[in-house]
Amino acid sequence: MSDLTPLSLPAPEGQAYLAWLTDSCAAALDAARSGADRLKTETPSSAQAVLEAWNDIDIALGSVAARCELFSEVHPDLAVREQADALAQQARSLATQLGLDTELYAVFSGLDASDLDAEASRLLEHVVRSFRRSGVATDEQTRARITEIRDRLTVVGQQFAKTIREGTRTIRVRPEQLDGLPQDWIDAHPADDEGWVSVTTDYPDALPFRTFAHDAQARRDLSIASLTIGYPDNVPALHEIFGLRAELAQLLGYASWPDYDAEVKMIGSGDAIAAFIDKIADAADAPAHRDVAVLLERLRRDHPEAERVESSDAAYYAEVHRREELDVDAQVVRTYFDFAKVRAGLLKVTGRLFGLTYTPRADAPVWHEAVTAYDVTRMADGELLGRIYLDLHPREGKFKHAAQFTLVGGVSQVQLPEGALVCNLPTGLMEHDDVVTLFHEFGHLVHHLVGGHQRWAEFSGVATEWDFVEAPSQMLEEWAWDADVLRSFATNAAGEPIPAALVARMREAEDFGKGYFARTQMFYAALSYYLHLENPDDVVARTAELQARYSLFPYLPGTCMPTSFGHLDGYGSGYYTYMWSLVIAKDLFSAFNADDLFDERVATRYRDTVLAPGGSRDAADLVATFLGRPFSFDAYAAWLAR
Ligand SMILES: [Zn+2]
Repeated sequence: MSDLTPLSLPAPEGQAYLAWLTDSCAAALDAARSGADRLKTETPSSAQAVLEAWNDIDIALGSVAARCELFSEVHPDLAVREQADALAQQARSLATQLGLDTELYAVFSGLDASDLDAEASRLLEHVVRSFRRSGVATDEQTRARITEIRDRLTVVGQQFAKTIREGTRTIRVRPEQLDGLPQDWIDAHPADDEGWVSVTTDYPDALPFRTFAHDAQARRDLSIASLTIGYPDNVPALHEIFGLRAELAQLLGYASWPDYDAEVKMIGSGDAIAAFIDKIADAADAPAHRDVAVLLERLRRDHPEAERVESSDAAYYAEVHRREELDVDAQVVRTYFDFAKVRAGLLKVTGRLFGLTYTPRADAPVWHEAVTAYDVTRMADGELLGRIYLDLHPREGKFKHAAQFTLVGGVSQVQLPEGALVCNLPTGLMEHDDVVTLFHEFGHLVHHLVGGHQRWAEFSGVATEWDFVEAPSQMLEEWAWDADVLRSFATNAAGEPIPAALVARMREAEDFGKGYFARTQMFYAALSYYLHLENPDDVVARTAELQARYSLFPYLPGTCMPTSFGHLDGYGSGYYTYMWSLVIAKDLFSAFNADDLFDERVATRYRDTVLAPGGSRDAADLVATFLGRPFSFDAYAAWLAR
């Protein structure tokens, strides 16, 4: 039993938070700075002691980053959010500075690792690798150029994103071309004095329009407008990003940017990305053609002359198919998902599955009255594992998406893991999509808590390879699609549980199009990989080629999707990651008993072999330990073909 206690947060008022954040972060940043100085001036003689000193620095820097990144997104007081932002920036620049410190690097590169145990050796490898990847081991002139490239990439990346953000396009249509759209959408889009209605490429306009508008030409016009955002303005920015990344990789000793980027991921190398893309494309081929044939047949009932399905027809006819053939009424579905019951159900389901008890802590200070805190203990022995905070409803100034945030990264004997789930859910009835998102994000939270008891901060909780970290969450989504699981909490106002037949139809509707969706995703992954690898002179021509090779929908002439593909900056050559982790999620799920998702033996083994080790071993090893074999494509391919 450890006697660690959760962090004691201040009273929610802005002043108290400002003082707490400022003081605690200043102390932690000081500790990190002086710890690094001591490592250089009074270097301990044993490798173990050096790593322990480094771990303390890691913990100090991590504590600033974690609390500041959370409170910059959720604290109700603007002054606290701004202060948190500024402090997070200080932590980032100190981390960069340490990564480029040649004296510090000399301490680690000269260590004798022979007395270290396996996990400490692994830590040393990771630390040295990070130093090497920062460029600290290169000569002074090269280091100067690397810094220049990194700074320039930040600037160009911001310009690229800004051009996309400000590049919204508008098409003008006649009111009769709005046929098919929901009435509230039509009401919000009145015609101007000359009888034109403006429709923009922003999601709240474009998504419903491409899904519901009967007018095929108008849908096509809007698709073309969306796919020309940032074109041609962003073409030079793309060339610069690809060129600088290639140069950076080469200066650091890699053949290409994808090789540099993939080195620290499960996939391992650039070539493996190309092979993965083709493997998924093959597995998806038959299911993709099958579902597109369904779309084409339905399209021909409206347009007998149609020879193929355009990308601008896909969302519309998929929706028609779901409505006409699968009979899923979203209005009925949501009556089964009352927020309070869903939250209680989520805790009950995950508690039972992972052997956890959640104890509400009404006495724990929280940053806003809508936030609830729970202590998490292991059911088997009552051991306190950490604390979670649920901040689930929208409010002014709060983060707009759904994510798990670390509040404290767990380190055994030092500090308990704590995390916050930050979402924007309604307080009443929810969409089923929201329920799936809630299970997904809670998957990260459980991983953070259960895996947050490591010797080394570097390996705490979700600190695994970047292309693995989504897999446990993608797998937990399955519990939100299981009729038996849903029956346990999804009841309507009359107390009737959601019918299994309805859940089956929801699932079928969700799965329709997964093959051509996978092919479209591989088209995007191929863009992200090949554009980085080749930096082709003609981005438009290369885009059209890759679309013809991977997507089942033809290239729309005149468009240039990459100029508005924001992930080309954020994900770099790694857009494949979502599908990679989904393949693993499907494989992990195949080990569970489909008739009893709560089968305790499997769930406990999963918790202990995949989640509990955090990042202390390679994800491929964790998965192989759980499955009793290396992971494979079979479960994913079978799901696609179903
Ligand atoms: Zn996620």
